Amino acid sequence: MDIDTLEDLAKELKSDENENALELFKEYAKINKIDEEELEQILSKKYDCFKCESCDKFYCYDEYSFFDEKCIYCCDTDTEDEDY
Ligand SMILES: [Zn+2]
Repeated sequence: MDIDTLEDLAKELKSDENENALELFKEYAKINKIDEEELEQILSKKYDCFKCESCDKFYCYDEYSFFDEKCIYCCDTDTEDEDY
């Protein structure tokens, strides 16, 4: 797997087939000497890639709840149809 650009990284992180997204994220930060928090910010601002603090997966804007600070899949599991 070749990750040359942040765009590649974002794509790879959001891929459903990637089960080591967090590892990949950390490795990229390490190799490129970017602070993890900084990398997270860049990804979210420029590449529509958000890190879920709850399940450590990466999602795009539509799949992320800023209110809960986690992805909609996490929210799905701990709220029971309250909105419907
Ligand atoms: Zn999540």
